[in-house]
Amino acid sequence: MSSTECAICLDSLKNNLSALRCGHTFHSDCIAKWLVNQSACPCCKKTANHRTHVIPLYIDLTQRSDAESSSHTDANSQGNEKQLQTSNHQLRGQLDSCANQLKESRLENERLRKEASAQASKIRSYRSLQSVIDLQRRLSTEDARDRMRHWAMLPRDELGLITASLFEKYRDLTG
Ligand SMILES: [Zn+2]
Ligand SMILES: [Zn+2]
Repeated sequence: MSSTECAICLDSLKNNLSALRCGHTFHSDCIAKWLVNQSACPCCKKTANHRTHVIPLYIDLTQRSDAESSSHTDANSQGNEKQLQTSNHQLRGQLDSCANQLKESRLENERLRKEASAQASKIRSYRSLQSVIDLQRRLSTEDARDRMRHWAMLPRDELGLITASLFEKYRDLTG
């Protein structure tokens, strides 16, 4: 008897397996039925109790099965392969859509950044325009006030000379 056979039914061990504490492995159904009437491992006769000695094995040995069931295995592995391909395809699709979303949000980000910087430069130019206007207003009033103060302190004849020269300048400018 090979170790890949169930010692109870002599069929090969592929799936739905359970091991006893001693390590011997059988079909879950076979060992369950066996232990209804027996209280020892069918291989080594060590004490075995269904409630405390049976360990279900969640492995599937179908891929390693004998040559006689190879066509069945091929169909199975083809099915598995198809399933893998399908899930692969689905994953790739999800990945693609994630990449697209990422690209879109990057573009949106870029657009928002450009808009923000355009707004910022607009605000900057408004501010500098405003400061130029403020400066001009301040300068012109200060300038005019200074000039008037200066003129007010001049002797009468000097003021007359300045007025005359201003008249000449005005005449030259207006032709
Ligand atoms: Zn069996
Ligand atoms: Zn045993």
